[in-house]
Amino acid sequence: MQSRKLEQAMEYKQPGVTVWFTGLSGAGKTTISRAVEKALTSHGYKVEVLDGDVVRQNLTKGLGFSKEDRDENIRRVGFVANLLTRNQVIVLVSAISPYQEIREEVRQKIGNFVEVYVNAPLEVCEERDVKGLYKRARSGEIKNFTGIDDPYESPLNPEVECRTDLESLEESVSKVLARLQELRFIKMEVD
Ligand code: ADP
Repeated sequence: MQSRKLEQAMEYKQPGVTVWFTGLSGAGKTTISRAVEKALTSHGYKVEVLDGDVVRQNLTKGLGFSKEDRDENIRRVGFVANLLTRNQVIVLVSAISPYQEIREEVRQKIGNFVEVYVNAPLEVCEERDVKGLYKRARSGEIKNFTGIDDPYESPLNPEVECRTDLESLEESVSKVLARLQELRFIKMEVD
């Protein structure tokens, strides 16, 4: 390798970043983040996924859905995401994370933070009802369900917005990758 090229290669240090997918249940957070994971790992990036459902069975087991518990859930996820991010990992978090203030708190702590608003109208999410939870929330079996009887505060200024009712999964994934590229967190060709 020519010496300048070698220098450049040695200077380049993959930055870590947390990509935070927020949105209603069934909006497409898990689907998009898994597809982004696949794309990034196939290009050799170090990636970890912190998926809301999995996290709640482990790291934050026992926490409920009051505002206090939801905030605590997000704070713990943010703590782990921060540790990974500072070790040059690309962290993909998918969590409803309905409250603006705690998302902002986590953003400030982590620094390298890209917010992806996975947006589909409630009617569409409810129609999809991937896990059958909307039906149970409507019947009153589940209480404090986001979008039904619990609030969702939309991001004010997300780096990316994916309208999953209007665009294909491939389009959503490309948008996320393109933004990461633009912000210089990754270097890869995006279709
Ligand atoms: P969440 O993680 O937000 O609860 P999921 O990813 O589990 O949502 O479910 C989203 C559902 O919407 C999946 O069944 C997925 O196939 C479907 N879907 C339809 N269009 C899209 C899209 N453009 N992006 C992501 N998911 C989509």
